[in-house]
Amino acid sequence: MKSLSITEDLYNYILAVSSRESDIQRRLREETARHPMAIMQISPDQAQFMSLLVELIGATMAIEIGVFTGYSALAVAQVLPPAGKLIACDTSTEWTDIAKPYWQEAGVADKIDLRIAPALNTLDALISAGQQGSFDFIFIDADKTNYLNYYERALVLCRPGGLIAVDNVLWFGSVIDNNKQDESTEAIRAFNKKLHHDKRISLSLIPIGDGLMLARKH
Ligand code: CA
Repeated sequence: MKSLSITEDLYNYILAVSSRESDIQRRLREETARHPMAIMQISPDQAQFMSLLVELIGATMAIEIGVFTGYSALAVAQVLPPAGKLIACDTSTEWTDIAKPYWQEAGVADKIDLRIAPALNTLDALISAGQQGSFDFIFIDADKTNYLNYYERALVLCRPGGLIAVDNVLWFGSVIDNNKQDESTEAIRAFNKKLHHDKRISLSLIPIGDGLMLARKH
């Protein structure tokens, strides 16, 4: 075994000794857990890891592609400096309306610029507006069939030395299951394959949550 299998008990221990989830985060997570699409929410340990990454690179400007009910946006926005901005892209007001009161209560609403539109349109608009190289941190967590499209735009918008984090790259194990040949699984396989030898980045695949690919732009 090259890495430890995380049992339920061990996972609970990890949270018990390291989670700093705030009361607001916990309530948002619990409300989202009752949602039929709750599987789309990232885990508290992953959110905390992403907060740490954002702090480590000293990010001010960030983008999130795929907001859902705003748990990861909250984790990122709360560690951005007061002048920081998170451009949050989603197509669903039903989901993002759940997020808003929590963002407000956490005092991060002013840092989050929610754009309700297909994310490719929002990203292309940022590029057209001359925002190339303006962003420090970009989190991709939306429709898997567009991952490569999001990634190429993220590379344009990211500054050299900035970080692109991509969720669900293990796709609950489907990536190694030959019986799984649906569009999303194939898209994630193609995505991982592309990044493996992409000379524009350095990378690491972190087995946290459902697999988080980290790509640092050269
Ligand atoms: Ca996800």
